[in-house]
Parts: sequence; C-alpha cells; structure tokens
Amino acid sequence: LDPSAENLSPVERDIEKVLRPQAFEDFTGQEKVMENLKIFVKAAKLRGEPLDHVLLHGPPGLGKTTLSLIIANEMNVGIKVTSGPVLDKPGDLAGLLTGLDEGDILFIDEIHRLSPLVEEYLYSAMEDFKIDIMLESGPNARSVQISLNPFTLVGATTRSGLLTAPLRARFGINSRLAYYDAKLLTTIVLRSSEILKTPITDEGAYEIARRSRGTPRIANALLRRTRDFAQIKGTGQIDTEIARYALNALNVDEHGLDEMDNKILTTIIDKFKGGPVGLKTIATAVGDDEGTIEEVYEPFLIQEGFLMRTSRGREATEAAYKHLKRNFPGQSGRLF
Ligand code: ADP
Repeated sequence: LDPSAENLSPVERDIEKVLRPQAFEDFTGQEKVMENLKIFVKAAKLRGEPLDHVLLHGPPGLGKTTLSLIIANEMNVGIKVTSGPVLDKPGDLAGLLTGLDEGDILFIDEIHRLSPLVEEYLYSAMEDFKIDIMLESGPNARSVQISLNPFTLVGATTRSGLLTAPLRARFGINSRLAYYDAKLLTTIVLRSSEILKTPITDEGAYEIARRSRGTPRIANALLRRTRDFAQIKGTGQIDTEIARYALNALNVDEHGLDEMDNKILTTIIDKFKGGPVGLKTIATAVGDDEGTIEEVYEPFLIQEGFLMRTSRGREATEAAYKHLKRNFPGQSGRLF
C-alpha cells in the first residue's frame, strides 16, 4: 500500500480517477486552503483573467492533483498534466506551453525535480508569457522570442524545501495541504463507497479512516481491499468487524502508521532513549534524508501525538512508547 501514485496498477489508476472529486463542493477538508482558492478563482473569473500561478505542497496522496483538476473545472479551462522528471529539455516544455489556450492550466507534478535548465526556461514563461525558441540548428541557428497565451501554472511538490527561491517567488498563490483527521477521512470513505456501490456502516468507514495515515489515497485503497474481504468473507457490507478483520489481515497498523513512521519512532526510543535527538541524527539512523522526514513523516507523527518537536530536538511521546509496546521511562517499571 504505497501512498505514491507511481506504484498504482492501471486498474487502480482508473478507480482513482472515478473516485476523484470534480468540483470544489465534492472536495472534503483543507478548509483554509479551499476558502482562499475559491475566492481567488471567483475573482479571476470576474476579471476574465487567468488565475495566478498556484503552488500546492504537501505529502503524497492528499489531493494536489485532484485540486488542480478541480481548479481547471471551476475556471472552465483546459489542463495539461506533466511532471518535473518527464520534462527533460526546454524543448519539451516549449511544446506544452505553445499548445495552451488562453487561461489554460499547466500542471507540473513533482516540480522540485525540474532540471535547472528547464526551470530557468519556465521563469520568463511564468512572468511575461514569453519564451525563446531556437530555430534551425548549426550555423543558421537563431533564437526568436514568441508570445504565449496567458496561462496558469499549477505546481505540486512533496518537498517544498527543495524548491529554489526564484521559482517559489513566481507563484502568487501558495497553499499547503495538511494530513486529514479521521472524521474527514470517514466522509471521504463514505463518499467513495457510494460511488463504488459498496454498502458500508459509518463505524466501518471510521475504522478504515483512522487507519489510513491521514491520507485520502490510502483510505480509498484500503476501502477497495476491505470491499474484497466483505464480499468473500462476509455479507458484502463493510462493518467494523469485517473492516478490522481485513485491515489486520493486510497488516495495517492499528494507528495507520507506515513502516518508516514506526522505524523513526523505534529509532528514537531504542537508540536515543526517546530523545531529544536532532533531525540529522534520526535521518542518518533510519537511512532517509532530513527533508523527507521533516516534510512527509514528521507532520503526521506530530499531528497524531507520537512525536514532539522541542528546541533540543525530537522526542517520542508516551503514546509512541505505548504504541510500540515499550515501557515509558517516566513511569519506569510499569507496563501498559
Ligand atoms: P496528490 O496529487 O497530492 O498525490 P491526489 O490528488 O492524486 O494526491 O489524490 C489521491 C486520491 O485521493 C485521488 O484519487 C482522490 O480520489 C482522493 N482524494 C484526495 N483528496 C481528496 C479529498 N479532499 N476528498 C476526496 N477525495 C480525495
């Protein structure tokens, strides 16, 4: 159950498409972000101008791609979708940019992975809606400047820390998506079950939601797997019992933590006496980079109360000890 979209099979990708909200009103949660986006979209439409460039950042599976498609729908414009690593040469980008109609959206996923050359090429496109292209090659080569239709760039990144300052500065709208709480995810699971025509109880939906690591993509994936168990082992309806049975059979953590979450907590507790310990030290010990831990793992662990960020470093909480079935040193000798 990898939360990144790249590992989805074609069938799962299709299901993901079906479950994708199409309009602002179908999109659950992210209230602050949505409130602002709705105003910016409305204002741009009133003025008959393209929306300002939008940067969406946040961990995988929280709705960045979904939101960009919704923005295109709400603005009544077309959208072209690409990603940082795919745009190899400035020419690739030029092809996309010159194909945009007025007001269209260009969505670049993983925008932190653009090559410096392509990124620089993007600057003038974003700022003045102009690009330089090379005509012919060899001795006759010359570059001409061409005007583009005004467009909106929507960039998505899981690692905003890796974005260069000049690129970041060119986005007028900058929104961070946060992990969802279990209540919001319950709403999303109920909506998805309705679309998939799978009967489910509110409690069954909650059981899936609270074990989905705050992530709609994971919630939808767990719903589909649980539906299989309900059909084969149960009555077809998902209730708490069948949800628990399925999630345990799938080895889904009681609190929805994934392998790396657990590794981080175990490391802090077993190797560093529960902390405080610095981010760099944790990163080295678990074998991942600092930025990913800080931007992808830590926010969820903090939100769920397993980790604390103090001035002296990161500390595991009593809840973390309890979850990992370790004795909390504050009450040494006492078992939970
Ligand atoms: P990201 O681009 O951030 O990795 P996606 O936009 O691809 O995430 O979202 C993954 C899946 O989760 C989508 O298929 C969509 O169905 C679902 N999803 C994400 N956010 C929401 C939401 N707020 N409400 C309902 N479904 C959502």
